[in-house]
Amino acid sequence: MTAPVTPAGGPLPQARAELLVCSPLRLEAMAVRRGLGGAGQVRVTGYGPARSRRQAAALASDEFGLLAVAGVGGGLTDDLTPGDLVVGTEVSDGNTTTRCPVAPLLAGELRRAGLRVSTGPVITVDRLAGGPSRRQLAARGAIVADMESAPLAMAAGQRPVAVLRAVSDTPARPLLHPGIVTGGLAALRSLRAASPVLARWAAAAGPRRVLLAGPRSFCAGVERAIEIVEKVLEQRGAPVYVRKQIVHNTHVVADLERRGAVFVDELSEVPDGACVVFSAHGVSPAVRAEASRRGLDAVDATCPLVAKVHVEARRFAADGYLVALIGHAGHEEVEGTLGEAPESMALVQTAEDVAGLRPADPGKVAYLMQTTLAVDEAAGVSAALRDRFPTARAPGSDDICYATTNRQQAIRAVAAASDLVLVAGSANSSNSVRLVETAERAGTPAHLIDGPSDIQLGWLEGVSTIGLTAGASAPPAVVDDIIAALSGLGPVEVTERVITTENIRFSLPKEVRAQ
Ligand code: SF4
Repeated sequence: MTAPVTPAGGPLPQARAELLVCSPLRLEAMAVRRGLGGAGQVRVTGYGPARSRRQAAALASDEFGLLAVAGVGGGLTDDLTPGDLVVGTEVSDGNTTTRCPVAPLLAGELRRAGLRVSTGPVITVDRLAGGPSRRQLAARGAIVADMESAPLAMAAGQRPVAVLRAVSDTPARPLLHPGIVTGGLAALRSLRAASPVLARWAAAAGPRRVLLAGPRSFCAGVERAIEIVEKVLEQRGAPVYVRKQIVHNTHVVADLERRGAVFVDELSEVPDGACVVFSAHGVSPAVRAEASRRGLDAVDATCPLVAKVHVEARRFAADGYLVALIGHAGHEEVEGTLGEAPESMALVQTAEDVAGLRPADPGKVAYLMQTTLAVDEAAGVSAALRDRFPTARAPGSDDICYATTNRQQAIRAVAAASDLVLVAGSANSSNSVRLVETAERAGTPAHLIDGPSDIQLGWLEGVSTIGLTAGASAPPAVVDDIIAALSGLGPVEVTERVITTENIRFSLPKEVRAQ
């Protein structure tokens, strides 16, 4: 018999994997059962490590498809309060560690449900954790302790496993504290509220293929901009001010912030004489002039391909052209380019905007483009411009940069063979948003995600092949994190489809090269 196939050409996901939830105590099992509303099977596995080990031995031959351990636990860190949920990234008894890669997916889903959630290591101990031992366990990196999870989780073997603990006691409200009853009740309420997410996990579980689009992730301009900030931090020391986000990605910005970069919106926030880096998106001449007037030590991380568009804008404007800039209003790159010749430039976002252009001389119209536009969308606007102004001058070479073009072509190729496309990138990243639109235009549902915790389990139901890419500002590690998280739903087979390889590198500016 021929197996049914998806539009992507692969086998349909297997029937819903049977969920087994192990809850040590009856009260915990009751809370979970109510939350699950009939999905999966809930088993009371008994209090303490000895009972868990016996249950784990029995589980080894059980037929379940995925396993969750759900109960209450003792918080180990001061930021936790009773009723908080902890999703284990791994669980250990001190000897053996079981990884739970699905943690970020479950945590994201729980947060979207309005619950307070932390992710981190869970430790299983033989005795209830009192004051000093709580601190010792926290020093080993664990954030919650219990007496059952490790042996039960280990029994999952190769099958997906999750550990969910609701905090009943904390360092500030320990077990013998009068508040332990209210803490326990808060934990049981949270456990019940969290359990529907376990059912959604089961519904989304199954083996999958991931088609990786190549090229993806960092382009040469982004690598250069990040390296410039790193070098400036190294050479001049923190703090180093950066006007606007150096590149539009939350991970990159957070990482550089940890290392001493201070991101500001305007130069007025930079102290006199301090060092400031201009972002990869470029700045207008007015910003450069202000930096110079204030005596700031300015280092320019503008991507050379954006700088090229600035040069073209100045050249056309100097030759008396009205320069139509095809781009998106409010984007920093567009603001910087328009600032090169504000009197001679006009922003054109759509083909309809072309009708509104009023050039002094219809024979002297030129157009330029934002570097991160969707190639097909920009082609429609430039066609409208050439229709109305047949002599319109185009840029010497494509303004939409090689990295944008390559990533769009790559995701188009992958989208055609996928049931769903995920694009790693931040919401303010123009090229990442364009990748989502490109996949959608190819007929495949697509979502922009900053990381694995943004993936909604509902998107994955019935999906056997996921196309995956990352915008030019998204770090490659995020793609690895996404694949790792997907492996918490079942086996993942990763195939890469590379349409071209990139070997472009831009040299660093002299201000950081010389030292
Ligand atoms: S996307 Fe293109 S223009 Fe933007 S930084 Fe990268 S290489 Fe430069």
